[in-house]
Amino acid sequence: MAKSDNINDIIDHVLYSQEDIQEMCKRLGKQLTEDYAGKDPLVVGVLKGAVFFMTDLVRQMDVKMQNDFMDVSSYGDGFESSGKVRLDIDVQADVKDRDVLLVEDIVDTGHTLKFMKDLLTERGAKSVKCCALLNKTERREDDVVVDYYGAKVANEFVVGYGLDYLNEYRNIPFIGVLKPEVIQANLNR
Ligand code: 5GP
Ligand code: MG
Ligand code: MG
Repeated sequence: MAKSDNINDIIDHVLYSQEDIQEMCKRLGKQLTEDYAGKDPLVVGVLKGAVFFMTDLVRQMDVKMQNDFMDVSSYGDGFESSGKVRLDIDVQADVKDRDVLLVEDIVDTGHTLKFMKDLLTERGAKSVKCCALLNKTERREDDVVVDYYGAKVANEFVVGYGLDYLNEYRNIPFIGVLKPEVIQANLNR
């Protein structure tokens, strides 16, 4: 029963409600409005997970900005990091001399974020910072700074509000912990 139309069959418990998430967006948006005032940042959402967070976050930022997207992947088998990062879709904008703000759904090992920060810095960005909705600090393997984040999470696999398991469950409006048996059912297949 890896796939189900019923949320209760796959979610163990809710970690952050829709209201909790909107509060995080408001708080981060206020801080970013202060920090990026007059900087005309390029705000880059990381596909696909961060699209949901990005749209809510930037509408809480009262600053002139441009928006772009990039797609980077490192999660080969669904929930364990392969450690190898691949650039799937590049940003369209020229990042040279720009203040770039990367918007991520979650930073786990840090491999993906390190890869993107290094890439954009090499291209001559003036600054590259990251705003992640969730920060899974326990599993960090790379020495990389998550400049802004909504909340710290423990070492559990979460889905919803953009976060997927095998490219599903992104449209769940809250963030929840996936039932271990959903993952187990897939491993046993
Ligand atoms: P990192 O390179 O930091 O290990 O991995 C970052 C990416 O791993 C995230 O953008 C996300 O796609 C995925 N990821 C890490 N932890 C989780 C999690 O708990 N749930 C989901 N759905 N994805 C995760
Ligand atoms: Mg991602
Ligand atoms: Mg994923």
